[in-house]
Amino acid sequence: MVFSLSLYLIILKLNPNLSNLLIIFTLRSIIKAIEDKMGNEKFGKILKVNLKNKSFNERYINKNDVMTFLGGPGFAIDYLMKQKVFEYDPLSEKNPLVVMTGLLTSTSFPCSGFYSVSARSPLTTIYGEGLSGGFFGAELRKVLNGIIIENKADSPVYLKIEDDHYELKDASDLWGLTTDKTIQNLRSELGKNYKVTCIGTSGEINVPLASIINDHFRAVGRGGMGAVMGSKNLKAIAVKSSKKIDYFNEEKFNNISKSIFLSFKKSAMGDVLKNFGTNNIDYFERLADVPHKNWTLHKWKGVNEISGSVVLERLHVKSRPCYLCPFSCGREIEIKEGPYKISNAACSEYETTAAFGAMCLISNVEAIAYMNHLCNTMGVDTISAGCTIAFAMDCYEKSILTQDDIGFPLEWGDADAAIKLLNLMCKKEGIGKILSNGSRKASEIIGNGSEEFLAEIKGLEAPMHDPRAIFPLGLQYATSNRGACHLRGFANDLYSGFTGFNEALKISKEKPIKERTIDNPEFARDVAISQNLSEINNALGICRQSISSGSQIVENLLDLILDEIYYLIEIKLALSELMEIGERIFNLKRVFNNKCGITKKDDRIPPRLKFPLEKGRVKDKVLTIDLMLEEYYKFRGWDVNGIPTKNKLFELKIENY
Ligand code: SF4
Repeated sequence: MVFSLSLYLIILKLNPNLSNLLIIFTLRSIIKAIEDKMGNEKFGKILKVNLKNKSFNERYINKNDVMTFLGGPGFAIDYLMKQKVFEYDPLSEKNPLVVMTGLLTSTSFPCSGFYSVSARSPLTTIYGEGLSGGFFGAELRKVLNGIIIENKADSPVYLKIEDDHYELKDASDLWGLTTDKTIQNLRSELGKNYKVTCIGTSGEINVPLASIINDHFRAVGRGGMGAVMGSKNLKAIAVKSSKKIDYFNEEKFNNISKSIFLSFKKSAMGDVLKNFGTNNIDYFERLADVPHKNWTLHKWKGVNEISGSVVLERLHVKSRPCYLCPFSCGREIEIKEGPYKISNAACSEYETTAAFGAMCLISNVEAIAYMNHLCNTMGVDTISAGCTIAFAMDCYEKSILTQDDIGFPLEWGDADAAIKLLNLMCKKEGIGKILSNGSRKASEIIGNGSEEFLAEIKGLEAPMHDPRAIFPLGLQYATSNRGACHLRGFANDLYSGFTGFNEALKISKEKPIKERTIDNPEFARDVAISQNLSEINNALGICRQSISSGSQIVENLLDLILDEIYYLIEIKLALSELMEIGERIFNLKRVFNNKCGITKKDDRIPPRLKFPLEKGRVKDKVLTIDLMLEEYYKFRGWDVNGIPTKNKLFELKIENY
């Protein structure tokens, strides 16, 4: 601003006739500088809702916010740190629920319907977050970039948002309903144009595995965000807007979006996802990527009975893509008769199929679909639920849990016993009271050596990609900020040839299995950079497929994303600046976790992931990450205990938190 004024005075002195033009130029510069500092519609706004006194406060986002954190979980961790949420109990009023959309959410960029929910996790007691696609996030972003929900309502409420009108409404009629009924009832009362996200009955009773479900089929699954929402007596958020996203240059933005969309749509990967969703379990089996029988078997013939092609044959599949998605992995199914009869149900994704199927040795595709539906309607994370049941089956086999403890036999492969147990967990009844806490806490209660059957890191059950076949994935799981996670980093895609950004980020390319199954410190850098990219992915609010598969299809995808950011908000970032934002978000989450007590001792591989398999492609491999972890800390600028150094925090401009 000072520069603009000085320039104006100098030029005016040289040529007085230019004065009008210069006045306009100067005024525009001044207004822009003020807007960038104060925030404005261009960057959007965040709503703060106080459930106790029913008040609403809005704050505009400014240029600095975007340059520092982009959006999504970036804004969330900034807020959680500033509020010192690491000091409070996850189910206390002091733990806010931070719902954020990403910078590109709701734009014409393909797969940009994502939103995030962050809070201190009741499952892991560290930083928790989940992201979800569908349509809710896209609708919300038209009005708000995010909502911070504080305190607790005296009785059940839901938040209604219609453009700039916000209202907390009585939800006593909705309390006690499943997620599908809640969404259905709200939309018939408010109108079909409303998009809804909500908790089920498990969230209401604060089950630590509770999820949040939007648009019937999409879940903020991991880390118990649904329990935090339930602890606030908040049943749902319903949003409708007639507004449009404000672009700096809409035409240029749309041109890029359109060409990416078409490339995605006609790609071979697009065909696979459209036909089989993510459930390519038979293909993953060939890569030694699928865990079976709580990580203790190398192979299982039941995989062929629960694969994507069997689902397609038997379960009346219909396509159900998220907002503006050309890949369309989301699907709806129906089971018309029999004990597992369901309709309008989400089709199980790979993770769910493996968690209930391969992990528990359940080869009944209908039963798996039914368990998926139970989880979605009661509102519980499918990965943690399936893996905790597998842990309980392991305990039962070793007589650490008995029929008396459980109330019925719990043999491997017994679908009906698994369904009974899942119901108990969702309702916190019987043995479910213990197991609904997730496997780590359950093992602490059960004792008797049950910790040997655990496959969790920082309290989060490991997802369904086997790091014994990709050691760098083990490093990613061990260091992931929300606990073991395949979605916070791209280690499983990097070395299998599923990504195309390797050259742009100067990281390794596809490697044969024997080169991936070594504790090689060279992998540390790849893993760290891919975790930073993952933070960008989420802060942009776009589906992970659009970065992993997408970068394989569109060669210069990251450059195009930088162009899109410019055409949206007139900020030109270099790739290195974008990656630094990702690094900043990752490190700030780590600082949050350090304050919750996380150090090197927690960046570890649990017993079941070290279990050597007797046969198969990774026979006798014992997963170790010691060398990679040492190098990882060095590359990240952390000390030997896994704490970011002052220099690193200073370099990332987060030294003052
Ligand atoms: S690829 Fe699947 S999860 Fe991603 S946006 Fe498309 S339908 Fe949604």
